[in-house]
Order: sequence, then structure tokens, then C-alpha cells
Amino acid sequence: MVRENEIRDNEVRIEAPERTDASLIFIGRIHTPWTSRLECPRQGRADGPACRIEIFEPWVEALDGVEIFERLEVLYWLHKSRRDLVKQSPANDGKTRGTFALRSPVRPNPIATSIATLIRREGNSLFVRGLDCLDGTPLIDIKPDRTLFTPIAPPQKGDFEVGDETSSC
Ligand code: SAM
Repeated sequence: MVRENEIRDNEVRIEAPERTDASLIFIGRIHTPWTSRLECPRQGRADGPACRIEIFEPWVEALDGVEIFERLEVLYWLHKSRRDLVKQSPANDGKTRGTFALRSPVRPNPIATSIATLIRREGNSLFVRGLDCLDGTPLIDIKPDRTLFTPIAPPQKGDFEVGDETSSC
């Protein structure tokens, strides 16, 4: 069962440290057909409903060039998530896992990512498929899908470095 904010059997809640301000800027808003977390897809699908990503000013001109990419990586902020669980029981079936072993919306920083298929751009809006968030979810960033993107800047030393099992930082 999808949660609103309840805690399930065996889940572990911590007293979250005081928040520091990372100076995130919400650059837009995502419009989707879903108004309840109980109805949202758990993961977006490439043939899912069209959703509209609205970009706020002054960021609209940052969209220039996105049209050439068939797929975009979309980062968004799951603003209704609780942020204080370190162990979670996704199916409430007695099996509990660490938050970082899950793609649950409940995380210390509720950042979500999806690979969305671009349908078209209209002015300050991108129409895409492949999202899984509530209507009104704040947008953090958009990037070309990395599998479609070749770095434009020249290579750097680190690009040629490889490691083995003995190397560590
Ligand atoms: N695709 C993203 C990822 O893997 O990083 C998000 C996956 S997360 C499992 C998707 C779920 O988050 C949805 O099914 C819904 O229950 C929940 N959700 C969607 N929008 C939300 C929001 N704005 N605030 C809190 N929870 C949200």
C-alpha cells in the first residue's frame, strides 16, 4: 500500500538534524494527472500520460536547445514526503530495508529523478511522458539524458583515469 505519511511495522524513524539551506531554487512546476500519492505511478513509464513541465522566468531561455533530445532527465522535489526514516518497509510485509537501498519518496532530501520522453516544447512548457509525481510538484533541474549527450567541453585528465580494487580515496 502506498503511504501518505504513516509509519509502518519495523520502520525506523530518527530525529532529523536541523536543516541547512542548500539554496535550492525551484525553477518550475510539474503538471500531472495525479492529485493523490495513492494514484501516482511508482515509476513513470515511457508510454504514460503526457505531463507538462512549466518553467518559471528567468529560466525559460535555459530551455534553448533541449528540443534536439529525445529524452531528458528530470529532477524534482517530492515536497510532501516525510524525511526522517532510515529503515523502511515498502510492502509492510515484515521485510525492512535501508532508505538508500530504495527509490522510495521518503528520503532525507526527497529528490526524484526520471527519464522523460520529450513530446514537444511550447514556449515555457515541455510536454513529456515518463513522470510519476503529484500535480504541482516543484522542479529542480532538467538535463539531457546522459546516454544521448556527448560532453561539449574538451576532455580533462580525470576522463582517462581508471582504478582497480586497491585504489581508494
Ligand atoms: N522516479 C523517481 C525516482 O525514482 O527517483 C520517483 C519515484 S517515487 C517511488 C514516486 C512516488 O512518489 C509516487 O508513486 C508517489 O507515491 C510519490 N510522490 C509523487 N509526487 C510526490 C510529491 N510531490 N511529494 C511526495 N510524494 C510524492
